[in-house]
Amino acid sequence: MRMRKTATTAAVVLALAATATACGGESGTAGDKQAGADVYSGTYTVAKGVSIDSPALKRAQKAGHITIGVKADQPFLGFKDPATNKYSGFDIEIAKMIAADLGFSEKQIKFDTIDSNVRETTISKGQVDYYVGTYTINEERKKQVSFAGPYYTAGADLLVRKDDKDITGPDALKGKKVCSIAGSTPLQEIKKPQYGAVTSEMSKYSDCVKNLLDGSVDAVTTDDAILKGYAAQRPEKLKVVGQPFTKEPYGVGLNKDDKALRDAITTALENHIKNGDYKKAYVGTLGKSGSPYVAPETPLPRY
Ligand code: GLU
Repeated sequence: MRMRKTATTAAVVLALAATATACGGESGTAGDKQAGADVYSGTYTVAKGVSIDSPALKRAQKAGHITIGVKADQPFLGFKDPATNKYSGFDIEIAKMIAADLGFSEKQIKFDTIDSNVRETTISKGQVDYYVGTYTINEERKKQVSFAGPYYTAGADLLVRKDDKDITGPDALKGKKVCSIAGSTPLQEIKKPQYGAVTSEMSKYSDCVKNLLDGSVDAVTTDDAILKGYAAQRPEKLKVVGQPFTKEPYGVGLNKDDKALRDAITTALENHIKNGDYKKAYVGTLGKSGSPYVAPETPLPRY
């Protein structure tokens, strides 16, 4: 136990040193290393001779690589290690499984970090071929993009400082300062007058977490799966309240008119749920930050 603690501390110190020299930027909270140094990375059988009438896929085949939008500051979901620049987490595994079924190996994937508030524009402009990043399926977004899934369902919750005794749930937020992310569904929710919260918005969750740690806000709200990752990084400083107050079904975002790609991604998700890859990836990532495994419902909706 003692040994493990020392190793983790050493890893954090190393990561701190790396970020200090790497001019910060888009990846995880400065100084953070994804807790549990052994990062899960699955390998998936790459399909050969894939031919689908999808403009995005044809473009990717011509380019020899596929571009996938992801998050970079969500431990166990979509996290870019500042020391290695390698992405890991459950969403990254989902992205890789789909890519494999479309004929692209991990080496042929170009991950692009895309924040919540620019997802719809990035997808509809074709700057990414698809997007896997804690992306809630809803009717508003469906006006601009299309979704395959849901492949997981989270719920908005609250992250607070470990010693906080006041914030016991969403109905204890009157006058409290709550940080969330521009373009996210939990921000829209927490702005409702019924909560009485004083809200602030950032473009990255990791910035909200910094504000929580330095005392400038009282809570961070977003999906429980994301918050559990931050709490796992700093268990001595942060905790998740554990009272989810919305439903956030995660989908893979893609161009609104690309039905062929949507069907192919839906089939890929179903295949990997069936063959056990999904569960293995889940247990190796989200399972480690304390989100119990729930088998997704199949068949997935098609339209
Ligand atoms: N799932 C929520 C959303 O799509 C919050 C997480 C995020 O911002 O990606 O808005």
